[in-house]
Amino acid sequence: MRIEEGVELARHTTLGTGGPAKAFARPESQPELEELLRWARARSLGVAVVGLGSNLLVADAGVDLLVLKLAGELAAVEIEGDVLRVGGGAANAVALHRARAAGLGAFEFACAIPGTIGGGIWMNAGAYGGDFAGVLERALVATADGSGWLTAAELGLSYRHSALRHGQVVLRAELRLRPRPPDEIKADVRELNARRKAAQPTNRRTFGSVFKNPDHELSAGRMLEACGLKGHRIGGAQISPKHANFIENANDASTANAIALMAEARRRAHEQYGIRLEHEVEFLGGLELPDL
Ligand SMILES: Cc1cc2nc3c(=O)[nH]c(=O)nc-3n(C[C@H](O)[C@H](O)[C@H](O)COP(=O)(O)OP(=O)(O)OC[C@H]3O[C@@H](n4cnc5c(N)ncnc54)[C@H](O)[C@@H]3O)c2cc1C
Repeated sequence: MRIEEGVELARHTTLGTGGPAKAFARPESQPELEELLRWARARSLGVAVVGLGSNLLVADAGVDLLVLKLAGELAAVEIEGDVLRVGGGAANAVALHRARAAGLGAFEFACAIPGTIGGGIWMNAGAYGGDFAGVLERALVATADGSGWLTAAELGLSYRHSALRHGQVVLRAELRLRPRPPDEIKADVRELNARRKAAQPTNRRTFGSVFKNPDHELSAGRMLEACGLKGHRIGGAQISPKHANFIENANDASTANAIALMAEARRRAHEQYGIRLEHEVEFLGGLELPDL
């Protein structure tokens, strides 16, 4: 069990911001993970997992937590019949590649979601009409008190939300897919990726959608665009000129820059539309947006 100190989390987020973790480890098996959870509990240290950091804003000052990155068998992908057995740390891209090779469809929606299975379940990631709730049978979740299987219903998956809390680690999951010819899967993925590339800043460092879509005729992106925020910049962070619900690391941005941009965007959307935008990105390390 190797525990490192002061690992910079900027290396583990797609935005490329965030300070050091008090403790950092890469468990490769269930016993190793459970030992780490007990180690943290004995020290009253909170625990959080980082997947590919593609939906994560980490405080510049760092986090007083044990941060885990799942590896080895906790990131493996196996196929049994039409069930994909995946480690919580497996990248969606790898899982999709294996599913396609085995002639299993229904996971195509994840082709452009640059995260892991655990991160996808945590926030019920989805796109183009599909989401994890639609394929997840059950997940093995570990805590310092032990591990157990939870069904999709027990995980409370809804729009970009689950009932999971830090300290609960998705070790493994079972996704039920459907037989589909690999060529059809490939063609669908190509089309979805092209749609994505046309609408979003796919060649920039971002953390995906900043805000959830509000209950309004305008999506969050259209609303922020109408507020004149495209290209708005604070420090090294800017609202994408291509899609206003993305924040780009334009030049050595900090998390504080991104938070300041988010606060400004919320303020303007509230002023102009009376809407309180809710952030989709996850915060780590005591980050907060000011009240409206
Ligand atoms: C260019 C781009 C496009 C994107 N498009 C989409 C999209 O179309 N749809 C969409 O829904 N999202 C999208 N996202 C956001 C992001 O990719 C997803 O939310 C993804 O599921 C996050 O996975 P991750 O492994 O990177 O999680 P992280 O960002 O590392 O973590 C997110 C949360 O999950 C928790 N977590 C991660 N792994 C585990 C685990 N094993 N056990 C318990 N908790 C865990 C973390 O602690 C954190 O709270 C996009 C992001 C980018 C950068």
